Amino acid sequence: MFLRVNKLQIELPAPKRQDPNAAAALQELLGGKYGEMSTLGNYLFQSFNFRSKSKLRPFYSLVAAITAEELGHVELVSNGVAMLNNGPDSAADDSGDGGDISQAPQEAMKDIRLAAGFFSNGGGAMPVDSNGASWNRDFVTTTGNVVFDLLHNFHLECGARLHKLRVYESLSDPTGREVCGYLLVRGSVHAHSYALALKKLTGVEIEKMLPTPNIPLAKIPEAQKFLDEGSHRRLYTFSPADYKEIAGIWGQGEQALPGDPPGELQVVDGMPEGGKIHDLVGQPNAFTPDYAPEEMYEIAAKLTQAMR
Ligand code: MN
Ligand code: MN
Repeated sequence: MFLRVNKLQIELPAPKRQDPNAAAALQELLGGKYGEMSTLGNYLFQSFNFRSKSKLRPFYSLVAAITAEELGHVELVSNGVAMLNNGPDSAADDSGDGGDISQAPQEAMKDIRLAAGFFSNGGGAMPVDSNGASWNRDFVTTTGNVVFDLLHNFHLECGARLHKLRVYESLSDPTGREVCGYLLVRGSVHAHSYALALKKLTGVEIEKMLPTPNIPLAKIPEAQKFLDEGSHRRLYTFSPADYKEIAGIWGQGEQALPGDPPGELQVVDGMPEGGKIHDLVGQPNAFTPDYAPEEMYEIAAKLTQAMR
């Protein structure tokens, strides 16, 4: 089962301006074939379907623990999308109604690339790619053959890295760049961990193919602080007590990839410290929360008070 913690894996910097097309680019990392919905879906169902869980414990635990991290990545990218659609908080005012709407105040929204992002979703994220095509189950591979599934996961993480790099190269705003910088580091960890799992099972030193694509993380400024704090050497169990067996794969004297800051790989019990979830302000013109928001805020404040 799952435990939910009201934090993001990292705190995202506020966007400098409203940029719905940048949000659309980031959607590729959410609902694209190699996006976070796909890594989540693959590991989620592989972990459910895993045979001989007790006999293959370290390999089962690896897929199960990374599943939880991927759900947090879905959450992180979704927050980035909404923040870019929303823009700087100072530009929004959620204290009144929508004002005069007779002069098409949202005219610019008809020209954004993912128009449904505004019309249907009020600036929120959806499990679609950068063109609005739905994420779907065809992006999930679960064969029942552990070597084949791990090989698929290795390919998926390398592919995800390629897509993250391209999206990163298209973004100038700090919010989207931070999402990419962090996910490039974590994607590298996951590719590395699946490579080491395959090495344990087959003897093939598949980790020597990394990094794929061949872009050193040190060339991504937004990845630097995560390298400095050693994120590239850490794999989390994402559980209060379970999945510790991943240390049999991620550890045992194995070292960081050449080109990254050196050091031994390390399993961390639990989850990263994480950061605060950005408090998106309401936009009366998108009917969020609604005309007369102050009444809703008052009701919510009373309910919160009553529970203390
Ligand atoms: Mn991910
Ligand atoms: Mn991953």
